[in-house]
Amino acid sequence: MSELITLTLAEARDGLKAKKFSARELAQAHVDAVEKARALNAYVLETPDHALKQASRSDERLARGEGGPLEGLPLGIKDLFATEGVRTTACSNILRDFIPPYESTVSSQLWRDGAVMLGKLNNDEFAMGSSNETSAFGPVASPWRRPGANTYVENGKIVGEPLVPGGSSGGSAAAVAAHLCLAATATDTGGSIRQPAAFTGTVGIKPTYGRCSRWGVVAFASSLDQAGPIGKTVRDAAIMLRSMAGHDPKDTTSADLPVPDYEAAVGRPVKGMRIGIPKEYRLDGLNPEIDALWEKGVAWLKDAGAEIVEISLPHTKYALPAYYIVAPAECSSNLARYDGVRYGLRVPGKDIVDMYEKTRAAGFGREVKRRVMIGAYVLSAGYYDAYYLRAQKVRTLIKRDFETVFDQGVHAILTPATPSASFGIGEKLKADPVEMYLNDVFTVTVNMAGLPGVAVPAGLDAQGLPLGLQLIGRPFDEETLFSLGAVIERSAGRFPVADRWWEG
Ligand code: GLN
Repeated sequence: MSELITLTLAEARDGLKAKKFSARELAQAHVDAVEKARALNAYVLETPDHALKQASRSDERLARGEGGPLEGLPLGIKDLFATEGVRTTACSNILRDFIPPYESTVSSQLWRDGAVMLGKLNNDEFAMGSSNETSAFGPVASPWRRPGANTYVENGKIVGEPLVPGGSSGGSAAAVAAHLCLAATATDTGGSIRQPAAFTGTVGIKPTYGRCSRWGVVAFASSLDQAGPIGKTVRDAAIMLRSMAGHDPKDTTSADLPVPDYEAAVGRPVKGMRIGIPKEYRLDGLNPEIDALWEKGVAWLKDAGAEIVEISLPHTKYALPAYYIVAPAECSSNLARYDGVRYGLRVPGKDIVDMYEKTRAAGFGREVKRRVMIGAYVLSAGYYDAYYLRAQKVRTLIKRDFETVFDQGVHAILTPATPSASFGIGEKLKADPVEMYLNDVFTVTVNMAGLPGVAVPAGLDAQGLPLGLQLIGRPFDEETLFSLGAVIERSAGRFPVADRWWEG
């Protein structure tokens, strides 16, 4: 294995500038690692030729003393971001052969800044899921194994008891944790950046709604969707976000605000900051390990000079049920466009209605169908007021809970990121879909309120698997999250995957 892949994004950037290695060497090291990691199924499309070409151009620019903030840095792109001329599927059969004639704004900003694309990363179909098991390309295996579990690779396939990397950005999180890219793009509608980051010992930030353009990102639930990065460190996430963020006239919900130098916020003192601990997040039956981790987080921030205050977010308990009305409602409307006429798959039928039905029956997986049906139901004439409208009212109350707390001078809120560590592939999906939805209990409130949230690795559970803490910030104050996240990272340490067992 090349040492180059274990560098952080910041280290690789500095190494390139200092001419310790070339962008081409860096890209080649990653291309080799990606090839050897196929058993994990993190990438649904590898673009090595594209990567090496981009890297050569980066080397030319670097030689001239030019280059952008991400010059020559190899990244993975969640397959929800449209990439011009490069297959983009949202990991759905309905888009299996879709080659977009345009580039998403977020990814175009990465290329503008000099980044190199290694390929497209696996995710739950249309980003619906918490385990990356709903992908039409099959599940992603976490690079983490339960110590003692007999999990290994035989003839290119994993046998034993592989774990999920979380979802929906499971490919992004697994690829970053396994050093199959320096950082990755991801999206978060109800937790899909933060939960997989927490499951894999990586850092993921969902920025404020409107921070990153949604243009060219396959839509799931438009009022909740937000792009963000997953990185190896808080600093890396900050570097990535600076390139991903910014106003885009093509997305009317994108915020016309300057993008700060997020990296400068890493290491900034947090002395005197008020950190809220919401009592409603102390769920009945909360895993004692998660509770203990949360206490540790409190102690670390206190040691760094922050002031800890108990706060109340009284409508928390309604967030998950309201989310699972709002998100499916928006999904049923967004996914109406996959009708066999304009995009991707078409299954012929005897007339147009038959063609729609056959196309959608063949093109969508079980979870997507479930969401489309729930969404159509809660939006239908007789049930709109009882479900959709009520969920929207609850959403307003959740948002107000946060506003009240921030008005009281709280700078950020500390919570667990997930109610448990990673679980086994197949353990939860089949049993009961609602059990899977419970994974999002700490994360969906943040999307419902449009706030920024970061998940930072904070420890390992008794089985030796990563756990994360979440920090929730004020609107457009991602900087505070990076400063506080860096304190947790410094106190907890980093959690690299122990060995590269997937290379067989
Ligand atoms: N797990 C949540 C869901 O299934 C969130 C998904 C996401 O954030 N994209 O809806």
